Amino acid sequence: TEIRDLLLSRIRDVADYPQPGVMFKDITPLLADPAAFTALTDALAGIAGQTGATKVIGLEARGFILGAPVAVRAGLGFVPVRKAGKLPGATLSQAYELEYGSAEIEVHAEDLGGDDRVLIVDDVLATGGTAEASVQLVRRAGAEVAGLAVLMELGFLGGRERLEPALAGAPLEAL
Ligand code: IMP
Repeated sequence: TEIRDLLLSRIRDVADYPQPGVMFKDITPLLADPAAFTALTDALAGIAGQTGATKVIGLEARGFILGAPVAVRAGLGFVPVRKAGKLPGATLSQAYELEYGSAEIEVHAEDLGGDDRVLIVDDVLATGGTAEASVQLVRRAGAEVAGLAVLMELGFLGGRERLEPALAGAPLEAL
């Protein structure tokens, strides 16, 4: 489709970053292009509307860049999910496994409530570990997952299959 071609044309492949053998998808050319960034924001805000979301969660750090304008455009609140140790208030945290080692993400507990339906936004879905942990955080906060929306899904890494049980029928949209 037209928007898919526009978005793809503004994503740069960087070989061997951050480690040898990895083809990194760099979205900074897309962010620098107002037509592409606006089209992306509008598409994600449309998903927020379709899923009946009441809040948008952005995953540190590129999920902040994409999620915040989506929340504003959709008329919803924005909630940051941060790497452990960055949020000053009472948090819920969720640990998850990486290829080498583990990581932990956190959210302010008071930012999500029992009436919330949350759209989780990030730039790239790779193995799905980060997204899966964020789904668990939303549930533990007592809120519902309206869906997960990403700019790009690296299908060969199997993130969608891994996330299916956690999403429990909530949509996963990759533009
Ligand atoms: P996952 O947990 O393996 O799905 O990795 C997803 C997280 O890593 C997301 O927060 C992405 O921002 C980041 N990530 C993984 N691969 C890439 C990439 O090629 N480009 C940009 N971000 C990436």
